[in-house]
Amino acid sequence: MLDKQNGVIGKYKGSTSGPLLIITAGMHGNEPAGVRALELLFKMLEVEPITNPSFSYRGEIIGILGNTLAFDQKVRYIDQDINRLWTKNTMDKIHNDVLLNHEEQEIKRILSIIDAEIENLKPEKIYMLDLHTTSSAGGIFCIATDNEESIAIGHDIHAPVVLNLLGDLGGTTLHFFHDTYREIPITSIAFEGGHHENPMSVNRCIAAVINIMRSIGTILPEDVANRHDQVLLDHSKELPKTVEVIYKYHVDDISLWEMIPGFTNFEKIHKNQHLAEYDGSRVVSPFDGYLLMPLYNSQGEDGFFIVQEVPDM
Ligand SMILES: [Zn+2]
Repeated sequence: MLDKQNGVIGKYKGSTSGPLLIITAGMHGNEPAGVRALELLFKMLEVEPITNPSFSYRGEIIGILGNTLAFDQKVRYIDQDINRLWTKNTMDKIHNDVLLNHEEQEIKRILSIIDAEIENLKPEKIYMLDLHTTSSAGGIFCIATDNEESIAIGHDIHAPVVLNLLGDLGGTTLHFFHDTYREIPITSIAFEGGHHENPMSVNRCIAAVINIMRSIGTILPEDVANRHDQVLLDHSKELPKTVEVIYKYHVDDISLWEMIPGFTNFEKIHKNQHLAEYDGSRVVSPFDGYLLMPLYNSQGEDGFFIVQEVPDM
């Protein structure tokens, strides 16, 4: 199903008009679960009307592989992390037709797919879901923008919603596809489905996609099998509903970084707890809170994040 030529994983057009839902996976080439989830999702959508004749979909979905070459090579990226390159600088380079590095070429390809789809469909509204997994185990979560609808969708996905993450990063898909794209309103969210290699991460990514489709009203709630939702509800029941990032540890040189083994997402940590070694020195937590995305990859520059619960959102 995966068209390696242009990285379109699948497309599905409903019987009635509605929003364009763009789902990206494998922005990081070492994260195959989202790609597998989309391959299965498009198969499920093809058979659903046969087993459930009342099923109807509103609008169109397109699934796009983020980094085709890194995915083939099973590495996070080739030249640069693509999820830090969705910037004006990259757009200027594409526009001016200057020499692009590998990930900039992938961005050019992704935008040409999206632009062709918009040209064809002329949607009044676009939604984007960017599927990821983490190098640490435990704790699924959504990363929302500061847009209220993005936060609401995150809660509907039934995974903890992480706020304020984008302030510490730059050039992510969520920064770029924020509020409007080509003058069309767009709402974006990212989903982190668990550990890269855990087979359950595929199921959780499928569940996140189905929950976003229900949340934005492109499928009817009665068409959604409860088992999908249960996958996420079971996994997030012990986790806080909404958290905000209060700290990020930046890693300049990944070769000097060593996270203490065994930390998981949403593990409770306390101030001064020993978390990692950097260049032979102890790295300790400056705060009490929950640990997020402790870095066990051999590529990357975010050592870990600390988040705290936001009450009543
Ligand atoms: Zn990722």
